Amino acid sequence: MDVGLKRELEEKVRSGERLTREDGIALYESDDLAWLGGLAHEVRTRKNGDVVHFNVNRHLNMTNVCTASCAYCSFQRKPGEKDAYTMRIEEAVRLAKAMEGENLTELHIVNGLHPNLPWRYYPRSLRELKAALPNVSLKAFTATEIHHFETISGLSASEILDELIDAGLESLTGGGAEIFDWEVRQHIVDHRTHWEDWSRIHRLAHSKGLRTPATMLYGHIEEPRHRVDHVLRLRDLQDETGGFAVFIPLRYQHDFVDSADGVIRNRLQARTTMASPADSLRTFAVSRLMWDNVPHVKCFWVMHGLSLAQLSLNFGADDLDGSVVEYKITHDADSYGTPNTMHREDLLNLIWDAGFTPVERNTRYDIVREYDPPVPLAQRRSEPQQVWA
Ligand code: SF4
Repeated sequence: MDVGLKRELEEKVRSGERLTREDGIALYESDDLAWLGGLAHEVRTRKNGDVVHFNVNRHLNMTNVCTASCAYCSFQRKPGEKDAYTMRIEEAVRLAKAMEGENLTELHIVNGLHPNLPWRYYPRSLRELKAALPNVSLKAFTATEIHHFETISGLSASEILDELIDAGLESLTGGGAEIFDWEVRQHIVDHRTHWEDWSRIHRLAHSKGLRTPATMLYGHIEEPRHRVDHVLRLRDLQDETGGFAVFIPLRYQHDFVDSADGVIRNRLQARTTMASPADSLRTFAVSRLMWDNVPHVKCFWVMHGLSLAQLSLNFGADDLDGSVVEYKITHDADSYGTPNTMHREDLLNLIWDAGFTPVERNTRYDIVREYDPPVPLAQRRSEPQQVWA
């Protein structure tokens, strides 16, 4: 990128002028990663100071049985497959209760699109989870699942959301977004919830007072222009509703370990590599710069590794996903040694070590607890330093 264009983009960002599609594509073409990170960090600092948000949550997948076979998904199983499972509601409640001692503030619930489970199972699950853990927020279901509930219940999304909210739903999850552009989407997504329905359902959720997250699955067969397009659609919808709380770029992952039955379900890995760390940092930075009206950008460390998660905090991210004790979708395992459990203390150390001040939040981004600022590295050189996988 020539110096003139760099200065022009800097001026736009500093004066708060909105970046265009062409600007986004030019930013992805820049090979000056430090410059890009610096610019995104300015925006992130203007919006969120030197704070890193996190929450203590538990991911719960009540069934892995799914009628769809999305190309990137290693989680789904067909009915009758060896490791297919569907939890009884009591089992889901027992699992959630087991986490109570962690001062859990949120349950994050995502499931396969089960062909036979009745619609009543879902509001009943929320009701019973809420009764068992009244202080825990329920962030549940992708727009894809809400669309599926329309089919199995005969109810409209509006009626479904009303019933789920009545049962304790506080937020939808941000999944099912992947890449909205049909040019890519038709090759990776096997369910029928595309931009029109995904945006319809989030718009509806926002109109009922829910704030929701939005994700983007990147680093597979898409090109930078598809990532820019994805963010611009969300930015436009945010102009309309103001209901998105956070953007979560998710790095596409290969399956590195065979499932129990030895079947590798991920069909994308023969066609693509994964995004490099530099490409991930670029994606965080460009996303922060382009999506100017979303308050937060989150790094989900399970899909990025802990070192990259720390670096992402200097490339636009201000939020880390919390103490995940169990996470299954797309992440049955990885080969980097990234743990799939983290606790509050680990997360605090990760944030301090990166030079930021941790703030624990709840699902609605209200502050639950503020922590001390980091001790400068110069003052802790004599201590053993942690190496993050
Ligand atoms: S991503 Fe979701 S809808 Fe697609 S196959 Fe996996 S579980 Fe099913």
